[in-house]
Amino acid sequence: MKFLFICVHPDDLEFNCSNLISYLTSTDNSVEILSLTQGEFGISLDQWKGPRLAKIRKKESINAAAINGVSAENVYFGDIIDGFVKYNSEALGYVLNWLNKLQPDIIFAPEPYYTYYWHSDHINCGRLAYYIFRKKQNLLNHPLRSLYFYTTVKPTIWWPFKDSSHAVRALSFHRSQWWLLKKVRLFYPIEKFNLPYRRKIGSWKFAERYRRVYRKGKNPAINFILKVILGKLSRSHTVNPPRSHYTVPDASTPFGQKIAQLRSEN
Ligand SMILES: [Zn+2]
Repeated sequence: MKFLFICVHPDDLEFNCSNLISYLTSTDNSVEILSLTQGEFGISLDQWKGPRLAKIRKKESINAAAINGVSAENVYFGDIIDGFVKYNSEALGYVLNWLNKLQPDIIFAPEPYYTYYWHSDHINCGRLAYYIFRKKQNLLNHPLRSLYFYTTVKPTIWWPFKDSSHAVRALSFHRSQWWLLKKVRLFYPIEKFNLPYRRKIGSWKFAERYRRVYRKGKNPAINFILKVILGKLSRSHTVNPPRSHYTVPDASTPFGQKIAQLRSEN
């Protein structure tokens, strides 16, 4: 079985799927990773934004994937710019091309609907995966058997684990994300703590959470309070940086010109 984990930024999977990926690679399954962007804007210091950071983050990502048993030749990077993942026909064609090239059986993507991680890149990537899985399989040369979402608040599948150190170690390769790493040792075990799901999966200390998507049928119901909280999050800049973050100091470089063009299209 061939699994493809799709993410938008180079560190998304280490935070959400490390334990499952390392299990899958320890079995007969093939696992590939596709990051749609190279994380060009994953820093607040202007002089690092762009190709300079992308180069570093690609390397970090490859090293982190190796900890989870995915070798460098199975880690792919798209060339959509960080912060500019759209939900439109161009982006749809782009993801379809990747799927036709890699031909996975099962894909994982960020949860677009029931998520606490309201970054527009994550939302749009998840929506593209959902639309392809449910409506556009006729454009694929190899059918998708299943789609699962990570970063979900409506999990249907739990991947339990006892010790958070494996994922924290994988995450520690993303050194350019120092602002995140500072908090990760504390935050990761809290985020993955299994307390709310004890009744479903027993006394495991931690769990990665996934939602399985079906090709037909309705999406799960969501309770009103949760909907309000998620709506508030979607309008905040806690995880979705403001537009001013996506600028570069030197607009004369090829990257600077590309950003100016992308911003003018918005
Ligand atoms: Zn991300």
